[in-house]
Amino acid sequence: MPSTIPTEGLKDPETAELFFKEDPEKLFTDLREVGHGSFGAVYSARDVHTSEVVAIKKLSYTGMRSTKKWQDIIKEVRFLQILKHPNIIEYKGCYLSEHTAWLVMEYCIGSVSDLLIVHKKPLQEMEIAAITHGALQGLAYLHSHAMIHRDIKAANILLTEQGQVKLADFGLASMVSPASSFVGTPYWMAPEVILAKDEEQQYGTEVDIWSLGITCIELAEMKPPLRSNSSVSVFSCIIRSESPTLQSTEW
Ligand code: ATP
Repeated sequence: MPSTIPTEGLKDPETAELFFKEDPEKLFTDLREVGHGSFGAVYSARDVHTSEVVAIKKLSYTGMRSTKKWQDIIKEVRFLQILKHPNIIEYKGCYLSEHTAWLVMEYCIGSVSDLLIVHKKPLQEMEIAAITHGALQGLAYLHSHAMIHRDIKAANILLTEQGQVKLADFGLASMVSPASSFVGTPYWMAPEVILAKDEEQQYGTEVDIWSLGITCIELAEMKPPLRSNSSVSVFSCIIRSESPTLQSTEW
């Protein structure tokens, strides 16, 4: 049965303002899937009026937990709308079509994780330094506005054709710091975020720096530390062990 959430939600003028009214099916053409996340697929597409190539993340809000899905879309759009920085993915607008939100962004050639897969070997120190530099500029901007990304990892750092670094995927981001929700991707999560689960501990923007450190190891070794452990034992290892270091001594 079609969900009624958007029509209800759109009665609120502040929510309605987040979405363009045009039919995206008529505005974008040549859709090709370029990536897939846990919440939906990402496509490259062409704007029929300007011929600009864009990326479109399609997020469905029907089926199980449709209210939560709709709230998550609103949250991500609200977030993207206010961000403006050369190292953060440029947001172009959001449209609604057949119970799916079309989140339109600038197009990148892929994520740093895609690069590792294609390259099939670890990145070199200079390459890691360049990616980390761009990611840190984006994080400095977010953190100066008391925002926390909370899901920094190679899969969420994108590269443009010109080699610019762009932070992406604000689905788990927090608009306030300190925060206290237990969210992120297990291997990249800082101890404070894991401790927030049972002890309601608060944490700040520094948790993104931990995740970026784990990402540096990911780029140097093709996988984050503890990758062979299950996610449950990963949590106890992260909170009990010393901060991880590179396995190889060759660096
Ligand atoms: P996750 O499971 O990590 O939460 P998600 O469903 O929130 O994923 P994204 O991480 O935003 O989705 O995107 C999934 C993948 O799609 C990325 O890893 C990347 O390969 C591709 N992608 C995302 N945004 C773009 C973009 N602007 N340009 C090109 N490719 C993109």
